Amino acid sequence: MRAATAATWACVAFMTVSNGHAKSTDRDRADAEALDLAKQAIALRSVRGPGNQVPQVAALFKSALVAGGFNEAEVTITPVDDTAFLVARWKGNDPKLKPLVISGHMDVVEAKPSDWVRDPFTPVIENGLLYGRGASDMKLDDALAVAALVELKREGYTPRRDIVLAFSGDEETTMKTTQMLAKELSNAEMVLNVDGTGGQLDAEGKPQYFTWSGAEKTYADFELTVTSPGGHSSRPYDPNAINQLSAALVRIGQYRFKPEVSELTRAYFTAAARYESPEIASAMRAFAADPTDSKAIAVLRANPATIGKIGTTCVVTTISGGHASNALPQRATANINCRIFPGHLRTEIMEELGRAAADPAVQFKDASQGSVATDASPIRPDVVDAITKAIHLGYPGVPVFPTMSAGASDSMWFRNEHIPSYGVSPLFIKDSDRFSHGLNERIPVRDVHPSMDYLLSLFADLSK
Ligand SMILES: [Zn+2]
Repeated sequence: MRAATAATWACVAFMTVSNGHAKSTDRDRADAEALDLAKQAIALRSVRGPGNQVPQVAALFKSALVAGGFNEAEVTITPVDDTAFLVARWKGNDPKLKPLVISGHMDVVEAKPSDWVRDPFTPVIENGLLYGRGASDMKLDDALAVAALVELKREGYTPRRDIVLAFSGDEETTMKTTQMLAKELSNAEMVLNVDGTGGQLDAEGKPQYFTWSGAEKTYADFELTVTSPGGHSSRPYDPNAINQLSAALVRIGQYRFKPEVSELTRAYFTAAARYESPEIASAMRAFAADPTDSKAIAVLRANPATIGKIGTTCVVTTISGGHASNALPQRATANINCRIFPGHLRTEIMEELGRAAADPAVQFKDASQGSVATDASPIRPDVVDAITKAIHLGYPGVPVFPTMSAGASDSMWFRNEHIPSYGVSPLFIKDSDRFSHGLNERIPVRDVHPSMDYLLSLFADLSK
């Protein structure tokens, strides 16, 4: 596979000599390297469990970084259970400055070849789209970041602050490696998380807008339990555990958390309104101006795409109870899944649910795993300016505005260490091509060139 890369490079180098446009062909070389690395990474099945190839993905990226001028010792791979994380440090020339961290993840969600049209672990380019598990989440993003750092080195760039590439190995599952990375890098100035797809293409494939993420909601699971002594079903008595739990679930189902707006979501609603239907658009604008506007709240709550952006949501997701058809239930349980608006602790939301349930017989337990509550990162002018400038290199005039993610990304663990963290993936995609975590995941190949220009500009602007 590396031989193919060398051949591509040789070809590009020849073109450089023959037509004399050194600058643009150098960048073409970085584009080619990014695409080649992405394909090699997709071919590695980096899925949690037996045969997890995250360590091989890390070795692939390390070899590209070392070939591109990093010292062996500057790039470390740390094995953790069946996975690994990678840290590459590029020393800046001002040791007083705190490092810029570039975050990504090397693992992918499971994909069953029998369900896919093409094999998920054989990268294929068809009709301008790169197909394969991890194409959009996030092996192309990883490869672009690696190739951009190599290209910056090749161009002779020296950062003032250290640039630290930090790739986790279990973002899609336990996030153990991310927690280790966040602790190890807790002195960072900021984190640029290149996960996902920040750009929106319309149905015709025209760039519509670009969003960067400055906050995410907190994932929480609460387990509700009602117990009772039970008995023979021919001798019913009150209270019945299933009836009690059901009544509490109905009250919780009717309960609405207070709508909230933050600096970030206000900016989002104001800018995103123009892409919505007239009814949603006017509700977004009215809510941004006055988050107590009950008419706007009703419209935004009725729309699954916006209900999560105006406050905490909680919904029952599983229920079980009883042990025999002819016995009174001894136990009934349910799971309430919440997406908590930034600024609230899980305990606070669990207490609020307890008040909504309004029955002391219902016991609440926080059953959340692998999640922490985090506040929004500040809207820093230096970050906003650098992102906007970088996007406009490839997509002149495209509106750029912030958003809040539904969670949970690696940024959560960095924010937990009080490091400002920003979701800044340069990839643009249509709604009809959005299949991350799903079948036939893909990404437009023409994203590569503007994404490379974007990362080169962004990494340099925020490290100089
Ligand atoms: Zn991801």
